[in-house]
Amino acid sequence: MKLYDTAQGKPVELQAIDGETYRFYCCGPTVYGPAHIGNFRTFILQDTLRRTLEVGGLQTYHVRNLTDVDDKTIKGALAAGKPLGEFTAGWTDKFHADCNALNCQPPHVEPSAVEHIPHQIAMIEELVEKGNAYAGQDGSVYFKISSYPEYGTLSKLDTRELDLGKTQNDRVNNADEYDKDSLSDFVLWKARKDEDGEHYWESPWGQGRPGWHLECSAMIKEYLGDTFDLHGGGVDLVFPHHENEIAQSKCACGGDFAKHWFHVTHLLVDGGKMSKSLGNFYTLSDLEDKGYSAMEVRYVLLGAHYRKPMNFTLDSLHAAQEALGKLSRAIYDLQQEHPELETTSVTMPVTDFGLFQDAWNVLQFDLNTQAAIGKIFAQLKRLKGISPAEAASSWNGLNALLQALGVIVPIFEPAPQVTVPSEISALADERNTAKANKDWARADEIRDELKGLGWVLEDSPTGTIAKPL
Ligand code: AMP
Ligand code: ZN
Repeated sequence: MKLYDTAQGKPVELQAIDGETYRFYCCGPTVYGPAHIGNFRTFILQDTLRRTLEVGGLQTYHVRNLTDVDDKTIKGALAAGKPLGEFTAGWTDKFHADCNALNCQPPHVEPSAVEHIPHQIAMIEELVEKGNAYAGQDGSVYFKISSYPEYGTLSKLDTRELDLGKTQNDRVNNADEYDKDSLSDFVLWKARKDEDGEHYWESPWGQGRPGWHLECSAMIKEYLGDTFDLHGGGVDLVFPHHENEIAQSKCACGGDFAKHWFHVTHLLVDGGKMSKSLGNFYTLSDLEDKGYSAMEVRYVLLGAHYRKPMNFTLDSLHAAQEALGKLSRAIYDLQQEHPELETTSVTMPVTDFGLFQDAWNVLQFDLNTQAAIGKIFAQLKRLKGISPAEAASSWNGLNALLQALGVIVPIFEPAPQVTVPSEISALADERNTAKANKDWARADEIRDELKGLGWVLEDSPTGTIAKPL
């Protein structure tokens, strides 16, 4: 499979370094409130990448952290009057429930930042020892950007309008997030401040807590080592978060860190970024309350290529509902024609996708979910009348694609068969004759008569049919 690598700026072939298991890391949620569907665009695409690799025959090992100690979680816990652990546990449970509804597979490991404070302290000590970090007078510790000349290669800082020399001695210690265009020595350990309440830990530099960027580096070291296959996140994380992770990890551990980088472009709402701080966001629960299912939400979020911005609308959810309905009908029809196609479990390895080969090919090229869905639909009408052999390969191929996309198609429920009493069908026939004779008055009369008897006539592709009201 090929995927665009942010670092190299081109699609690259994905192969497991160890030849067996594709080992990758994704920055996880900050658990201070419900994740919005913009966050889920990123998580669903990461899940789809994993599923696609798995359907393609690779094993995967997926690590995703929980950011449960930072400015936002501490502020949230204090405002809610709850211990930090209790506050973040509630939001972690909600995140897991949403992931489950959206059919995102749980990562193989999901380390929590707050449970890895000693690992983070150990990494800072390593960086200080090697001359890549220094303690300030206030008890905070900073990463020294000038000690790592390659800083900025992922986000191509040298080609951006930033004055590396001028800003290098600035420091950032007041927030975990900061202005995209400031380049500063960033904080690794934040000295205890009054507004953090009781949320501090002991360290060689005094009481405080780790900075946000450090947790990913420390947990990657613990669970993936110094070199692994791929690292992912939303595009907002390229700079400074991922740039800082690279600097910390390469300086502390050596190694190559991530071989490839996978970034998902933002979900927009009304043309702007969907974000919690702007308050312009939908959660999964908001959409479920409006009558849409989690699967429809997943389907919508797969509807644009991950490197293109996507504007979210409620109309698109409506279209998803219809599309899933069509797919469900097509599957039903195929099974009616080929009753031997019972199980939806995929026979691995899938060597032949039948009519859906093209859809698989585009998914394999830079995870083009949008094109894959388009190609699946383009083939549905061709399923009618295919040979048993072609039906078998196409069935396996379609189920494999749905598995890779993580889309669960609702089961089609045919309308219950209604027996039309003979006097009703006689009236319906008489009305058809009246219509054929252009006797509209009689035709209308019969329609009313039928209505009085509790029946309605509906046009269908096979002619007019009578249905109970
Ligand atoms: P957070 O919970 O804010 O740490 O974000 C979790 C993930 O969602 C990160 O990978 C972010 O880059 C990503 N993300 C945040 N906002 C959006 C958005 N509007 N569209 C897509 N991904 C997003
Ligand atoms: Zn991270």
